[in-house]
Amino acid sequence: MAEETVREAIRKIALLNAVNYGGKARYQPVLGKMLTEQPQMRTKIKELLPLIQKIVAEVNKLSLEKQRRIVEEKWPKALVKEKVEVERVLPPLPNADRYERVVTRFAPNPDCMLHLGNARAIVLCDEYARMYKGSFRLRLEDTDPRLKRAALPFYEAIPEDLKWLGCKWDMEVIQSDRVPMYYEYAEKLLAKGGAYVCTCTQEKFRKLVSAKKTCPCRDLPSNEHLTRWKYMLDGTYREGQAVVRVKTDLNHPNPAVRDWPALRIINPKKYPHPRVGGKYRVWPLYNFSAGIDDHQMGITHIIRGKEHLTNQTRQEFMYKRLGWKYPEAIHYGRMKLTGSLLSKSKIVEGVRKGVFTGWADPRLGTFIALRKRGILPETIRRLIVEVGPKTVDVTLSWENLYAINRKLIDPKANRYFFVRDPKKLSVRNVTENMVAQLPFHPDSEKRGFRRFEIKPQNGAVEFWVAAQDADMLKRGKIVRLMGLFNLKVESVKAGVATASFHSKGHEEAKKLGAPLIHWLPAKTGIPCEVVMPDATVARGIAEDTCRKLKPDDIVQFERFGFARIDSIDWKLVVHYAHR
Ligand SMILES: [Zn+2]
Repeated sequence: MAEETVREAIRKIALLNAVNYGGKARYQPVLGKMLTEQPQMRTKIKELLPLIQKIVAEVNKLSLEKQRRIVEEKWPKALVKEKVEVERVLPPLPNADRYERVVTRFAPNPDCMLHLGNARAIVLCDEYARMYKGSFRLRLEDTDPRLKRAALPFYEAIPEDLKWLGCKWDMEVIQSDRVPMYYEYAEKLLAKGGAYVCTCTQEKFRKLVSAKKTCPCRDLPSNEHLTRWKYMLDGTYREGQAVVRVKTDLNHPNPAVRDWPALRIINPKKYPHPRVGGKYRVWPLYNFSAGIDDHQMGITHIIRGKEHLTNQTRQEFMYKRLGWKYPEAIHYGRMKLTGSLLSKSKIVEGVRKGVFTGWADPRLGTFIALRKRGILPETIRRLIVEVGPKTVDVTLSWENLYAINRKLIDPKANRYFFVRDPKKLSVRNVTENMVAQLPFHPDSEKRGFRRFEIKPQNGAVEFWVAAQDADMLKRGKIVRLMGLFNLKVESVKAGVATASFHSKGHEEAKKLGAPLIHWLPAKTGIPCEVVMPDATVARGIAEDTCRKLKPDDIVQFERFGFARIDSIDWKLVVHYAHR
């Protein structure tokens, strides 16, 4: 085997090993694999050892992205195979084989825009439905016009967000359409003695139930309860005067399980429903309507947070009374995202009070805000699949999300110059016209170049540089303008830096340890506003080539970060994604 062939074989193994282990190839597995693939090399192990060591060291000096790119270019098939191996798969669902078809559901209240806090329920349910070739279903839970009042725009925004996330559902129900059905089941339970109408004050009931005692209503005959039920519906009882309770076990160790409330009266004049107005005065509570619907909608697997564990216990009493089998229930642990607001009530309050600029405020982690920033739906799905349905609590950081997103958008995003808070830099002694050609993407020259023509006037050229870069310009310092030339700073006065041409080559800059800064020829470019993750706005100038961009394009502003184009006319408005 020619030495070059050997080197190349080792390099391939080392690169694949590195890509699979976070960018660091290890010597032993590379040697092992080499000897398996090329058994004839066993006789030459002495020469092989230092060579492998050297190549592994070289490979490990490259960034993971670079390693991946080399593999993708040279051995595209090898990576496809490796990718399948490292792709994360969700653990199987319990008892999936007992059901003809796995059916999952996502059941939000249409009182808020969907946000990262909802992502786990959505993605897990949708992914599991796909995994088992089953169904994913959507249910809008809007039966509390008093405290968790739904609002019309969310009935449309929620399905939109789900579509954006790539979800497919084959059934969509809105609970406020199903009130008569809930009434039917309430009557059925009342007639069977599985529920009763309690007219005790909340205080009195609580006292009795915490002492494991029966309230005076519980043991009345069922026809008395059906009469009381009629009074609930016809307005004889008013808000707060009667509630339907499902009979459970008064000795249950958790007092919150004991005879839980199933339906109550809400004054329809005071609290009209956004969809059905004053049509109903008796509304089901969460455990009742969700419990009935899960059965009615054929849900086989409920996947939700562990804060719902008690709800399962509550609902199981009702299921037993109705002769139904409770679906399989998977309760995952809490997911926190450091530095982010995942509590719905706080989001709603903040938007209402104007603490945030609206639902798309980048501080919120709503899907609409993430979408605006250029976070891909695939990123959210991958993040959630990685977390899975485990019961332990997990804390994620934005960086976890960004790392996945970066991997997905980096190969696609074209590069541009954006000069934030531009400051003037004047360079003398430029003796010739020059053209700077910078690639749209460092790994793909096929995408072409951006051209900047530099035409000195009396040997001088003016540039815009970012304020942050201008701050480091000190007299005597050598700096390289990316892709153009090297300069030596002569003076910095009143925010204007003057410099003189030093040399042209990049090698020269490297030798001198000159920092690279990006730039724009003065009097060029388009005004640009970047909405940052903290909702502040970075202002500056983007290069002229950006005029060809379209909304939704994702770009990388060099030395600044990835961003998504939001609008473009006389100025460019973009939302910042991440570094
Ligand atoms: Zn009572």
